[in-house]
Amino acid sequence: MIKKKNLVFLGPPGAGKGTISEALLAKEDITHISTGDIFRAEIKAQSELGKMAKDYIDKGQLVPDEVVAGMVGSRLAQDDCDKGFILDGFPRTLPQAEMLSAELEKCGRSLDGVIYFAAADEVLLERLTARVLCKKCGKVYNKIFMPPKNAEVCDDCNGEIYQRSDDSLDTAKDRLKVYHEQTSPLIEYYKKQDLLFDINSVQDKADVLADLLKVIA
Ligand code: AMP
Repeated sequence: MIKKKNLVFLGPPGAGKGTISEALLAKEDITHISTGDIFRAEIKAQSELGKMAKDYIDKGQLVPDEVVAGMVGSRLAQDDCDKGFILDGFPRTLPQAEMLSAELEKCGRSLDGVIYFAAADEVLLERLTARVLCKKCGKVYNKIFMPPKNAEVCDDCNGEIYQRSDDSLDTAKDRLKVYHEQTSPLIEYYKKQDLLFDINSVQDKADVLADLLKVIA
C-alpha cells in the first residue's frame, strides 16, 4: 500500500495510463503531468519546443532525455505538486529515471510508488490503432469497443474526432519497439528500489481503477 501520492505511471503506449489518470483524478485531488500532453500542447502552439518534439513524435521516437527532464523538473517544482502528482509517460529511459531522482531531490520531493500497467503487444497494437480522441476536450474513444455515437463528433462537447498521427500502425509498432528497448528496463530498476506495483491493464477500466485504488488507498 502506498501512503502518499507521488506516483509514476509506467507502461507501454496503449496500456491506458492516460485513461486511468483521468479516472483517478475524478476521485483524488492530485496533479497530472503527462509529458505527451505537454508536447502535444506545444506542437499546437507551434512553439520552438513543439517544433523540435514533433520530429521525434511523428517517427515514434523519444524526445531527448535532457529536454524532457528539464521540462518535468520545472513542472514538479510548482506548488500544485505539493498535493501529490502522477507522472504519466515519464521517465521512459534509465537516464530519465536518474534525472528524475535529481529533480525530485532539488525540489524536496520523493516518489511513493511506480504503477506498472502491463499488457501484451497484440492488445496494445489493437488498442493504439483503434484509438481516436476529441480535438476539443481530449476525451479518448476506441473505434471498436467505445466509439463515439457519431464517428466524427465528440459525445460530450461536439468537438472533432481525430486519430493521433503516431497511432498509425507503423508508428505504433515503432513506439512499442522503443518501449521494449528503452523503457522496459525501468521495471527492474524500480522493482529493485521496492517501488513497483504491478497492475493488469487488460481488463475493464473500472477493474483497473479498482486495482489501482487498492494499491494507493
Ligand atoms: P505519449 O502521449 O505518452 O504516448 O507520448 C507521445 C510521444 O511524446 C512519445 O512517443 C514520445 O515521442 C514523446 N514523449 C512523451 N514522453 C516522453 C518522454 N518521457 N521521453 C521522451 N519522449 C517522450
